[in-house]
Amino acid sequence: MRVGIIGGGVAGLAAAYELTKQSHFAEVFEQADFLGGQASTFDVFGGRLERGYHHLFVSDTEITELIHELGLGDELAWMESSVGFYHGGKVWDFASPRDLLFFKPLPFLDRVRVGLWTLLLQKTKSYAKFENVTAKDWLSRRMGPKGYEVIWEPLLRGKFGEFYDKIGMTWIWNKVTLRVASRKGAGQVEHLGYPMGSFGEVIEVLADRIAQQGGAVHTSASVAKIVESEGSATTLDVRLKDSESELREYDAVIATTPSYVFTRLAPPMPEDYHNKLVGIDYLSAVLMVLVMDRPFTNKYWMNIADPDMPFVALIEHTNLIDRELYGGKHILYISNYPSRDSDLYQKSGEELMDLFVPHLQKINPDFDRSWVIEYHHHRVDGAQPIVGINYGAGIPGHRTPHKGLYLANTTQIYPEDRGTNYSVRMGRRVAQMVMDDASF
Ligand SMILES: Cc1cc2nc3c(=O)[nH]c(=O)nc-3n(C[C@H](O)[C@H](O)[C@H](O)COP(=O)(O)OP(=O)(O)OC[C@H]3O[C@@H](n4cnc5c(N)ncnc54)[C@H](O)[C@@H]3O)c2cc1C
Repeated sequence: MRVGIIGGGVAGLAAAYELTKQSHFAEVFEQADFLGGQASTFDVFGGRLERGYHHLFVSDTEITELIHELGLGDELAWMESSVGFYHGGKVWDFASPRDLLFFKPLPFLDRVRVGLWTLLLQKTKSYAKFENVTAKDWLSRRMGPKGYEVIWEPLLRGKFGEFYDKIGMTWIWNKVTLRVASRKGAGQVEHLGYPMGSFGEVIEVLADRIAQQGGAVHTSASVAKIVESEGSATTLDVRLKDSESELREYDAVIATTPSYVFTRLAPPMPEDYHNKLVGIDYLSAVLMVLVMDRPFTNKYWMNIADPDMPFVALIEHTNLIDRELYGGKHILYISNYPSRDSDLYQKSGEELMDLFVPHLQKINPDFDRSWVIEYHHHRVDGAQPIVGINYGAGIPGHRTPHKGLYLANTTQIYPEDRGTNYSVRMGRRVAQMVMDDASF
């Protein structure tokens, strides 16, 4: 069969890989002039670096297996992570349960309370009981108002902004279990994985493999419409680089774009399905990547629990990955998840630098702008679906109401949160679904 795939991110490529592996023809259209979508890379001092920080958890078995299948297993390294928590003008170690015991901003009994409930959360196998309760309600009830205010609320606000009190407890449950699965050894220290040639290399080899298996992958190739004809929505109105737009027909189409793009491309949907598509909001990601001549901190990951700071996390990539990959330079991501209409989203790179530098100096008073050799400003739309309560019931199905048309995007990843591992799993599953449906 012939399958058209909209989007050359991880999900679209994983679907094309699966289809071509099973001797079907798959053709991927990616509107950008590079592949990889949210996991794409750019060049920094001779190395390839993700536009937004990326690592793998130990539980990310689907992408790990794919990396091995592509012959890149030797490139995948697992490193000890270091986590900090910026609170009240100080950076606290926050990598292991032991660190929580020494976290003085919280009274001792509250530390114990937070620790015990976190432990119980980690041992909870089913998320069903968290489905209809917000993280705010559950955490403040169980871990106490202080534990919630000092630890969890800043994290929720940081990730979801104005939506912080709407987030379902399932989201927190998933984050806690993921991080625990990544802890190893007596000290229970988190280990994170990274393909040393970058996620960009994995994506490049994946695209090569699709071509070797008989498929086609196009960049600078956008889909303007999914056209319905003879009862199926399997014709694509595509425009390839330097070409006129043309119609291409397939036996099935898989769209991997965010839902708000999909509703523009697809034929009108019945009300129920349409409401599910528009019922899930997204936040964007705004990232500043500083390439520096010296380190900023000694932590890989630092949560910022200070509402006056204009960023929510600092990720110092070269405190996890050898900086020799980037000509010996130090790399710091400054991360935020604002909505598209926010001030922060609209700001230029220069404006963000002016805004961020004084705050960076609060964290490291020695920091000076002259440390920054170059900086890169990236915006990622549709970066984070907002996972409210009873989220599972509102997810649109992969099989759309239109014959032959399938949807595989990050809103459909649940109870886990978006991530390359789950886009691989989803891409392969939806490809299998397409093949199964065709065999009837
Ligand atoms: C800041 C940030 C940090 C992250 N950190 C991690 C991490 O540490 N570990 C991890 O595993 N994951 C991480 N993720 C998540 C991970 O990158 C994503 O979940 C995953 O890459 C999503 O892949 P996708 O293919 O589902 O979607 P996307 O990557 O969004 O791909 C969709 C593609 O469709 C294309 N497209 C849209 N419209 C059209 C059109 N009309 N025609 C043609 N093409 C179109 C887009 O250009 C895009 O390339 C992070 C994401 C962000 C934003």
